[in-house]
Formats: sequence, C-alpha cells, structure tokens
Amino acid sequence: ERAEQDFIARNPKSRAIYQQATESLPGGNTRTAVFYPPFPVSIARAEGARLYDADGHEFVDLLGEFTAGLYGHSPQPIIDTIHKTLQRGISYGSQHEDEGKLAALVKLRFPSMDLLRFTNSGTEANLMALAAATVHTGKKKVLVFDGAYHGGAFTFKNGQSSPINAPYPYLIAKYNDEASVSRLLSAPENAGNVAAILVEPMIGSGGAIPAHRTFLHFLRKAATDAGALLIFDEVMTSRMHSGGGIQSQLPPELRPDLTALGKYLGGGMSFGAFGGKRAIMEMFDPRKPTALAHAGTFNNNVLTMAAGRCGLEQIFTPERAQELQATGERLLASLREASGNTLMKITGYGSILCFHFTRTAYEDIREPGDVYDHDKDLGALFHLWLLERGFYIARRGFFALSLVLTQEDLEAFVQAVREFVRIHAA
Ligand code: PLP
Repeated sequence: ERAEQDFIARNPKSRAIYQQATESLPGGNTRTAVFYPPFPVSIARAEGARLYDADGHEFVDLLGEFTAGLYGHSPQPIIDTIHKTLQRGISYGSQHEDEGKLAALVKLRFPSMDLLRFTNSGTEANLMALAAATVHTGKKKVLVFDGAYHGGAFTFKNGQSSPINAPYPYLIAKYNDEASVSRLLSAPENAGNVAAILVEPMIGSGGAIPAHRTFLHFLRKAATDAGALLIFDEVMTSRMHSGGGIQSQLPPELRPDLTALGKYLGGGMSFGAFGGKRAIMEMFDPRKPTALAHAGTFNNNVLTMAAGRCGLEQIFTPERAQELQATGERLLASLREASGNTLMKITGYGSILCFHFTRTAYEDIREPGDVYDHDKDLGALFHLWLLERGFYIARRGFFALSLVLTQEDLEAFVQAVREFVRIHAA
C-alpha cells in the first residue's frame, strides 16, 4: 500500500491522463494487459531501448511491447522504409509487391509453412487457422490448454473459456500433461470430433512456461491419431533460435500442420499471419471455384508489409536471432543466480521470460495452473519497485528482450532484481 501511495505521489500527470480516459474508456483502458492498479504510467515518448512517461521518468524498456517491440523504438532502416513507403500512398485497395516479398521471407524461416496469408493481428491469425482446421477436417471441437493466450478472443483460465471467446466447443487440457490430453481426446463424446490441437510451444502471456520437447512430440502424434490438425501459435515464439520459431528445431515429421504468427514480424506495425501445409492453405486460393474467402482491408497494408520486409532483410538476420537467443539464456542464468532459492522464480526460454513469486521456495512451475495462487501482492510490489528504479516490465512479471538493450542495461537490471530479492523475497 505504501508503495502505491508513493507511486501516486510520483505520477500526477499520468494520473490525470488516466482519469480523463476513464470518462470514455471503461476503466480508462482499451487493452486489458497494460492496466495495473492504481493506474498505469502514461508513456509520452520512446527512443531506442527507453520509454519516457508524462511525469518525466525514464525507463529501460524490458517489456518490448510483449515481444512486438523486438526492434526497439527507433530502428532507422524501418523508419526510413516507412517514410519512403508513405510517399507512395497509404492504402491501395490492391495487391502490391511487398506482400509477396514478405510472405517469401516468412516462408523461408518457418519450415512448416508452404503457403501463408496475412491478417491484422495474432488473434485473427488464430481465428483463421481454426477456421481452416474446421473446414479441412469437417470437425468442430478444439483442444486448447488452460492458461493459454491466443489473443483477445481466445483466453483460457482456471479450466474455463472466457465468455468473449470465439464460439468453438473447447476441450481444455493441462499444459505439459500428456494424460490430460489423452483423456479428453479419447472421451466418447470427443473421439472423431476434434478439428485441431492449438498450442503455444511456450506458454507466453500465461507465464513464459516452455513445453517439454517430449510434450510437443506427443501432441504431434496425438493430433494425427485423432484426425486433428496440430496448430502452433508461434505469435510470441517466432523469434526463437535463428528466427524460425520453436518449430525450426523439430524434425519435419514433428512439425505442425498450421502456424499462427504476429508481433514483431510486421516490423512494429500491426501484424498477423497464418499458414502451413499446401493442401490446407490451398483452400484459400481464389482461383478455385470453391475457394474459402478470407478478406481484410488491412491484411496487406503497405506500411506493415514494407516494415516487416525491411526488418527481416536488414535487421533480424538469423545470426542476430541466434545472438538474441543466447543473450536471453545468459540473462536467465544470471537472474536465477541472483534470485537463488527464494520465493522469486524465473521461467522462460530464449529472450522471453517471466518472474513469479511462489508461496514457498520449493515450488515447480510446469504449467500455468501452478502460478494461479502465487503471491500477487509481492509481484505488484516488485513491479512498482522496478518502475521506481527505471525498469519497465509487465505487472504480471512478463518481460521480453529487444535488439537494442545493452549489456549494461541488463547488468543494471540484474542488480536491481538482486537488491529486491535481498530485501523482500529472501
Ligand atoms: N497468440 C499469442 C501466443 C500471443 O501472445 C498473442 C498476443 O499477446 C496473440 C496470440 C494475439 O496477438 P494480437 O495481440 O496481435 O492479436
């Protein structure tokens, strides 16, 4: 409580901006994930790896826009590309060269994607991947995982599907738990009726909890045996390894049928894509009389297509991707060393990580259900503590590295974490 009082005193302008927003936005908010009590700081400007709020505070940006901010806030090649693109007009209502070029770059990186299509967001990418799966299989049910997040219309918590979810009959299994998947797939009412298994190869928003490799292998076989498609939601994990997602590490026979993408692949503009096996994606080929229609005014908007292409061609090369993965692994090791055997746990993979505050020092985190009754007060205190010291992460402990953070930024961050653990979590 005292930390909240201090926060309010330090942030009068953010508070006023927030209060004005509450008059026309419910709770002053149009994006649930960025709210935290008593009110979020209002960011006024960003540059490189820094955020600046309305009250003049500077933060090292460790959230990286929930992974969409991979390039940092001022990637010169992308900014120049956007300026040049704008000079040729904003929106054509037509096909144009950059969409095919960006699609080719994405296809080159993600080994399971023979063909793909663009959308405006990761949410839509999942919506379309599921639509493709239900039409392709002629089945209706979808197996998902508790604690997964596939976008605003696909959230699952405490074994429940959100009331605003897209209307599929969902079977909600436990992540990293083969028996729970087998039980659901073999239940008489489900057998033969499951169109898809939709899975994040690492649970992202739900706490940066990686799938065991054996679990992904199991899901591939389970989907095939059930006559269902396996869909990887790599909206967050697409940056992994050399930039081809977690699937790039799997042998061909274990790869998904369909993949959903989003976030940084649009160069920082709004972006989504879904794609996969030729035989499935060809359903959308408009030259066919029976083609499925998939429309969207901004699917191929010129800014996203040009910015995404520039990012992959000029900045996020496979080598840069591998370096980022290694930086994340080193940071995870340093943070685990700093937190030791305390109430603070850090999970994640590569450059996507999450802090957790367990009730005892000896708890394992294997699936999102393990974090539901964590110490949210200690988590909130940690978040406010970091903000006060100039480090910006998500309230729920989630953070993701960008390409523009320096070694000094990361060392200072580890130092702040070490100090918090010593005072509050030991
Ligand atoms: N899927 C995953 C795994 C995500 O993390 C997100 C966003 O955080 C989405 C889908 C939704 O993407 P978008 O916010 O672009 O709709």
